[in-house]
Amino acid sequence: MCLELNMLVNVDTKILSHKFRLINIFNKTAIMHMPLTAGNIALFNGPNSINIERMDFDQKHLLKVNACAVCSYDVRVFRNGHKKVRPPVILGHELCGETLDTLNINNTKINPGTRVIVCPIIPCLSCYYCKSKKYNLCSNLKELGSTMNGGFSQYMNLPDHTIKIGGIIPIPSTIINDYAVLLEPLSCCLNGISRLGKISRSDTAIIFGDGPIGLLHLQLLKSKNIKVILIGLIEKRMKIAKKLGADLILHFKNDESIIKQIMDFTYGVGASISIIATSNKQAIDSALKVSSKNSKINLFAGLKKEDKLLLDLNYIHYNQLSIMGSFSSTPKFLKIAVDMVKNGQISLTELVTRKFDLNEIHDALSYTENCSGLKAVINRFD
Ligand SMILES: [Zn+2]
Ligand SMILES: [Zn+2]
Repeated sequence: MCLELNMLVNVDTKILSHKFRLINIFNKTAIMHMPLTAGNIALFNGPNSINIERMDFDQKHLLKVNACAVCSYDVRVFRNGHKKVRPPVILGHELCGETLDTLNINNTKINPGTRVIVCPIIPCLSCYYCKSKKYNLCSNLKELGSTMNGGFSQYMNLPDHTIKIGGIIPIPSTIINDYAVLLEPLSCCLNGISRLGKISRSDTAIIFGDGPIGLLHLQLLKSKNIKVILIGLIEKRMKIAKKLGADLILHFKNDESIIKQIMDFTYGVGASISIIATSNKQAIDSALKVSSKNSKINLFAGLKKEDKLLLDLNYIHYNQLSIMGSFSSTPKFLKIAVDMVKNGQISLTELVTRKFDLNEIHDALSYTENCSGLKAVINRFD
């Protein structure tokens, strides 16, 4: 359907169908027919409500989603909502796809048909943090799969600001879709590890959490040739941790027995690095008890909003402890993640344990919520 230009005189643009887009060519307003692509979406409508629906997508910067992994963040939002998430919106931020449009990133052209991963942040590009390229800390940050439509969807329109920061990253054919989705969480772990400063061979790290994030941290820290202790709860996952090189694996108990085992393993000194990769706040309490003087504790995982922790501030002062957080990542870390997987430094094969169709999204969320395996990946959308 096409409208003649002369029919549009005095037409209020607000009442034009969304199938038409006003464009300004040579200072003349013309109307151009923009064909739309219809696709399947899993629409989050509020706590415990996701429906499979159809949606029309613009052609501009269109991405065909090849796969999208389920993150524990998706489960938390699905169950309880989140103060920054305003439904209806499509969740899913760990994704890969294929470009259907030409993209220009910093004078580099990405042709249609290129397999890419997407940095799920949409920074404002004008705030204090954006000016120093700390885009994940943007004061006006929007996020794909959270505040904007994400990857539990057959197609996605790529935001201009994500393209501008180089957040669309081509991937080699050796990284297949089902594993490429893990490059985003890997990049978040790389951001977290960058916050720890210099890591030397005398360091010992302890990871609380045996989920995908714990196991990615395990591999990254082992690549620094240091001793790594992993504290988990699920036997199957702890076996994978052994395979991935953990030096000591302990079953989490909220008592003094694991504290003693860690102190024995570290000759009474404790761990110099602790990674909290679980939303169980008792892990932070335990981390403080097994941390050596001068050590660093990174709070990687989000906690329940009602969880508050009483800290002995003098303990932190006298032992010179650093407690820090890390959130999301930037294109720089996604590029490092691609290189590390391409070069075989990180293995993702053990971490994807089940694949789902988009219309099985509820099963995929339950699979993640119940810790039935490791990563659930949605890789069929039609
Ligand atoms: Zn995630
Ligand atoms: Zn900003």
